[in-house]
Amino acid sequence: MNQSSLCFPDGQKSCFRCCPPVRASGYDHYPHRLFLARELRDNTSRYDPAELSLKPITGFNCWALGYLDRAFKLVGCLLHPVQNGGRDLRGRIDYGHKCAREFCLEANIFDQLTAEHRRFWLGLAEGLDSFQYSSNLMNPLFRVLNFGPGVLSAMAAHSGPESMADRELISAYPFLSMPARPRSHAFLVEQIIAGYGVPSLAGPAGLALINELMNHIKTSLSVFLTPKRSSGHPPSFRGFSSDSIWID
Ligand code: SF4
Ligand code: SF4
Repeated sequence: MNQSSLCFPDGQKSCFRCCPPVRASGYDHYPHRLFLARELRDNTSRYDPAELSLKPITGFNCWALGYLDRAFKLVGCLLHPVQNGGRDLRGRIDYGHKCAREFCLEANIFDQLTAEHRRFWLGLAEGLDSFQYSSNLMNPLFRVLNFGPGVLSAMAAHSGPESMADRELISAYPFLSMPARPRSHAFLVEQIIAGYGVPSLAGPAGLALINELMNHIKTSLSVFLTPKRSSGHPPSFRGFSSDSIWID
């Protein structure tokens, strides 16, 4: 059986979050779902695989994004080699090279997990359709993946092979939804797991532990960066000695 990917996780839904790869910052498909569903049907019915002419896209929607199955569950690229007997037709939209290399950070992290751990974390997206699954607003998996493979593997291993992550996991481990961007404290969370184990991150106590350590690091850094001598201009890095760093 093929390994599931974040783009095509289970045959029930697919991701089209990065189509087209040029989008307005913060854009999310989900609020435009009704309009988009209609457009995808039109794109699919108009698509002619025999037509090879260049047809650049305009705006933030791509005419080549359509439904890949008769049940209208899977959404994806009609020009992709998998849909065209191995021929990559994405060049037809004029910047297909950008589409071909698009692979988001989250998909990359997902690929680093074992098949068992992938299944575990896909539980967070259980029951979502392709529109919800492709949305940062609706799919918590995109946020959680930013904690990185170390944290995700440790948490999945702690939960055991029989279980699946679900929305309750996020309530049990509130740090998973804390306002700070996951990548800014993923390293810290990984160190806490290494030192104290996954259970130390559970509940409000886990959140408090992370915040306490973050504050401790901030305080230590500000002490470290405080100029040793007042020189009337911002500190600049001058060099190392064996036991000190010179700052003036
Ligand atoms: S690369 Fe990322 S954003 Fe693009 S389809 Fe795959 S999972 Fe979605
Ligand atoms: S050509 Fe395919 S991959 Fe590129 S934006 Fe359009 S649907 Fe997405």
